[in-house]
Amino acid sequence: MIKKIIALMMMVMMSFSIITSIPAAHAEEKSAETIYQERLALYKDMEAITQVPWYWLAGVDTYEKGLRRARKDRDSADGVINIYFSPKEWAGPLNPDLNSDNPSAIALFDGIGLDGNGNGKASLKEDADVLYTFANYLSDYGYDDDNIQIGLWEYYHRDQAVNIITGHARIYKKYGRIDLDDEHAFPVPLNYNYSYRSTWGDSRGWGGRRIHEGTDIFADYRTPVRATSYGIVELKGWNKFGGWRLGIRDLSNTYHYYAHLSGFEDEIETGDIVAPGDVIGYVGSSGYGKPGTEGKFPPHLHYGMYRDNGYSEWSFDPYPSLKSWEQRERSN
Ligand SMILES: [Zn+2]
Repeated sequence: MIKKIIALMMMVMMSFSIITSIPAAHAEEKSAETIYQERLALYKDMEAITQVPWYWLAGVDTYEKGLRRARKDRDSADGVINIYFSPKEWAGPLNPDLNSDNPSAIALFDGIGLDGNGNGKASLKEDADVLYTFANYLSDYGYDDDNIQIGLWEYYHRDQAVNIITGHARIYKKYGRIDLDDEHAFPVPLNYNYSYRSTWGDSRGWGGRRIHEGTDIFADYRTPVRATSYGIVELKGWNKFGGWRLGIRDLSNTYHYYAHLSGFEDEIETGDIVAPGDVIGYVGSSGYGKPGTEGKFPPHLHYGMYRDNGYSEWSFDPYPSLKSWEQRERSN
């Protein structure tokens, strides 16, 4: 009952603040900074209403943003919130009007959609409604990390979805802000000698898969290797082809794969949070044999990038990203 009253009070407050502060503009017309501010404000408003910590909502929303980017069957979001509900889920599968925003009709047909800003409509086009609907779903499971993870598993039925969202949430909680996904570093420091060209998709190369799933950056032994984004160390260890290798999952759900290292930076462990520019290991020529095998090819960093669509992962060409990170860093 108390929760309901607080929710109602918050909704009334929010509907005023939304009406007075947000002009009728589309997401693409807003600056990146404004979008981050609006998102964070919405996450925090929903935490106040539902008690689900804002960084969990941010983690889910960012995961869903990555899914929209990776999937052809989902358009980019209308507003600043990226959580996706199909019209059928939202309005209820048997609802004769799948575009309904009538909360009682939606409830009657077992739709998930709720009115989050107290304007009497439960609209898929309103950020507050979409975010409130997801937060309210999670709050049924509880408010601590374990219960939220159970709620997420019940929603996505996929361990990797829970892992990725948990990673995002931990990063947002640690830094206390969400404008982190545009910050990048080139994988080797620019003042070292290195060279690379576009080699993704080549049939030959030191990658160990059917096609070469990455870009080889040639550099001397022991050249530092750095995280290129904010992320979580998802994998660390030996692989027959990749040698000493390490994988980082970033806030776009993209997996960054570093192979043939001569060794890892001390104290880097699976589960660690890394920031762009953090040293994670050193260039080497490890791989193609039992653990410790080295020197079967010139030293280089094999750098791969993999996108996740919620079901599977696939390699895409890291070369354009590497070029833009390098250029941006040079101009700083
Ligand atoms: Zn390679």
